Amino acid sequence: MKVQFHKTRVVPCHLAPFEERKALELMELCGRCAYKSEEKITQDSAKAFVQMLKNRGHLSVLEHSNAVFKIKPHKMTSPSDHSLETLRLQFLSLLNERAGFHRVAMLQKDDSPVLAVAGNFRSWIETLSLLEQHSPALHAFFGGGLQKNFPSIFAGEGSREHGLPFTLSLMGEEEQLENLQNHVHCDLPAFVFKFICDRGITHEVVRHRALSFTQESTRYVNYKNRGMALMVPEELEACFREETGQFGEENELVRLWSERGRMIFQWYQDDLARGLKPQIARDILPNLLKSEIFVSGRWSGWKHFIGLRDSPAAHPRIRVIAREVRKYFENLGLKVSP
Ligand SMILES: Cc1cc2nc3c(=O)[nH]c(=O)nc-3n(C[C@H](O)[C@H](O)[C@H](O)COP(=O)(O)OP(=O)(O)OC[C@H]3O[C@@H](n4cnc5c(N)ncnc54)[C@H](O)[C@@H]3O)c2cc1C
Repeated sequence: MKVQFHKTRVVPCHLAPFEERKALELMELCGRCAYKSEEKITQDSAKAFVQMLKNRGHLSVLEHSNAVFKIKPHKMTSPSDHSLETLRLQFLSLLNERAGFHRVAMLQKDDSPVLAVAGNFRSWIETLSLLEQHSPALHAFFGGGLQKNFPSIFAGEGSREHGLPFTLSLMGEEEQLENLQNHVHCDLPAFVFKFICDRGITHEVVRHRALSFTQESTRYVNYKNRGMALMVPEELEACFREETGQFGEENELVRLWSERGRMIFQWYQDDLARGLKPQIARDILPNLLKSEIFVSGRWSGWKHFIGLRDSPAAHPRIRVIAREVRKYFENLGLKVSP
């Protein structure tokens, strides 16, 4: 089988959705990237797939999500900064070191205070178990909101009997974005991207601990059946034609890289034929191996990524990615100074 070559690509998946169905579908897409089992996606496969991940404790895939709540004083009580501020401090003090996984911001809407609290599903699952031990009222309050809006993930959590003088509703993507554009520090939305790049670059991407990742697994994917693909190395860029996926000329360098790819793929297949499992046969696969990775995070995490990786000191192929990510955010009016 001939080795294919591809160019580095960034596919924005935009804001993590607030509607349950879309949120489940996105998490399924991210999760299935690991085993390359996207062909198993059907109209209604997402719920069972995500529940399976949750039950098995594979919670990192559930990080590609975002639930943002708006909290207001109950209509019967007078709007008061003070009561919301007490709630904010109580929530943060209970979270301790987990606070970094949430965003908590005091906003003003129509001259009234609104407390916004954001977290991905993994954060909420782990935070709810902490609240259950230390604050039944907060557990009932946030758990109730999560159960109402995301019953497939949070069934059985929370209760209406929380006894707190507040109401809670979900904030939609547009409002999250508007808040970010007007008050950049509030950092409420989560942005998801898919990168198609080489395995050497995914290794660099996953160093960014402020972001969340699900990447193609060289342990579980068997390239014998799928074929092995490489990313185009810099020295071949000029003669690669993206439209056809072929090189425009058969020069010495093209022959060299094609022969290298063919040899490596042959070694890999020989190892499988000797009975080695894909997770062991992968030892011979190169850094240039084409890989797919979903990456999610808030503006603060992406801003840090752009600052470090769209730089002359960075690897040229991660720089291609960082530039595309920068452009995406610039289109939203969010800038990182060079
Ligand atoms: C040009 C370049 C060359 C590099 N060369 C090497 C190399 O030779 N070897 C190598 O190992 N790596 C190398 N790296 C990777 C680098 O060391 C970082 O791991 C990577 O850039 C992620 O950056 P970060 O840790 O600032 O970001 P993140 O991990 O995204 O962290 C974001 C923020 O979270 C906070 N944070 C996260 N975790 C902690 C923690 N445990 N304690 C305190 N604060 C925390 C900090 O405030 C940090 O600013 C290189 C990176 C670049 C850009």
